[in-house]
Amino acid sequence: MSESCLFCKIIEGKIPSVKVYEDEKTFAFKDINPQAPVHIVIVPKKHIASLAEADCGDEEILGAVQVAASKISKMFDETKQSFRLVNNCGADAGQTVFHIHYHLLGGRQFGWPPG
Ligand code: AMP
Ligand code: ZN
Repeated sequence: MSESCLFCKIIEGKIPSVKVYEDEKTFAFKDINPQAPVHIVIVPKKHIASLAEADCGDEEILGAVQVAASKISKMFDETKQSFRLVNNCGADAGQTVFHIHYHLLGGRQFGWPPG
C-alpha cells in the first residue's frame, strides 16, 4: 500500500470504482476513460510501481493477474473470443499511474503495431 497511489486507494475503497472482479491477490475495475467497448484495469493488490520494478517473489502475483484477466475475459460477450491485454511500462510507453496494471480491452478491432 502506497499512501499516494491512486490504484491503492481504489483497492482500499477510498476512491470509488466500478469493480468487476476481486480475489486474494488481484482487483479489477472499469477504466474511467474507456478505449474500447470493454476496458478493464486489472491490478495486483500489492503496490509495485511498474513491471520494471517487479522482482523475484512477484511471480505468483503477476501470474494471478494474468489468470484474473482470463477469468474476466469470460465475463463479457465482447471479450469471450478475443481481447487485448496491455501493460504500459514507463512514461514513454504511456504509463500514467505507477502501480502495475494491465488493460483488458475488447469489443472492437485492434491494429498492430500499437500506436
Ligand atoms: P496507464 O496510462 O497505462 O498508466 O493507464 C492508467 C489508466 O487508468 C488510464 O486508462 C486511465 O483512464 C485509468 N484511470 C485513471 N484514473 C482512474 C479512476 N479513478 N478509475 C478508473 N480508471 C482510472
Ligand atoms: Zn499502489
